[in-house]
Amino acid sequence: MGKRNMEKIDFDKNSDGLVPAIIQDYNTKNVLMLGYMNQEAYQNTIETKKVTFYSRSKERLWTKGEESGNFLNLVDIKLDCDNDTLLVYVHPVGPVCHKGTDSCWGEANELKLGFLSDLEDIISNRLNDKENQQSYVASLFRSGINKVAQKVGEEAVETVIEALDSNDDLFLNESADLLFHYLILLQAKGYTLKDIIEVLKGRH
Ligand code: AMP
Ligand code: ZN
Ligand code: ZN
Ligand code: ZN
Repeated sequence: MGKRNMEKIDFDKNSDGLVPAIIQDYNTKNVLMLGYMNQEAYQNTIETKKVTFYSRSKERLWTKGEESGNFLNLVDIKLDCDNDTLLVYVHPVGPVCHKGTDSCWGEANELKLGFLSDLEDIISNRLNDKENQQSYVASLFRSGINKVAQKVGEEAVETVIEALDSNDDLFLNESADLLFHYLILLQAKGYTLKDIIEVLKGRH
């Protein structure tokens, strides 16, 4: 969204001429902060490619990072359904909150992979609780890296076998087994899916 679209933004909706701007990390999709822009702030943001707000407390234009150096480098801006709220995609240079955290809600700006990240957390808890007698994952960790790696091999072979068969249900289940045991192997080696994603990204 560039200057041409500025006419569409409903700066007049609020009497102070401000529209809320939700700041989102382009890569992780985490929401980092919320600020307000007037027409000038928006224009400045487009021109400098550094997110600039109108600060209600400072009562002036405020380029985020002007003191700290923690600029928000602009990637793209989207306008919402009724033209009164901006979604601003950024690459943050450093922690976004002046209290030192990545986001203004105190959260780390890390890549989240939804359910797979939850599953990785559960597996990590079992790795740290190897003596848990109830847990299959803990017992697999107890039996050592060779056994964990071997399980991945077995599930891979089972997945291949079912891929050549016509039973989709079995194929999906073996695929799930494979992914599950692969996550366990990654953790046993001290890695997570994020590390693999970095390798894949590095190839592009
Ligand atoms: P900065 O723009 O990062 O150089 O910070 C300059 C000043 O702006 C800080 O001292 C705070 O008063 C304020 N500030 C910076 N970041 C935030 C934020 N995420 N939310 C609210 N105020 C902020
Ligand atoms: Zn709206
Ligand atoms: Zn903050
Ligand atoms: Zn299996």
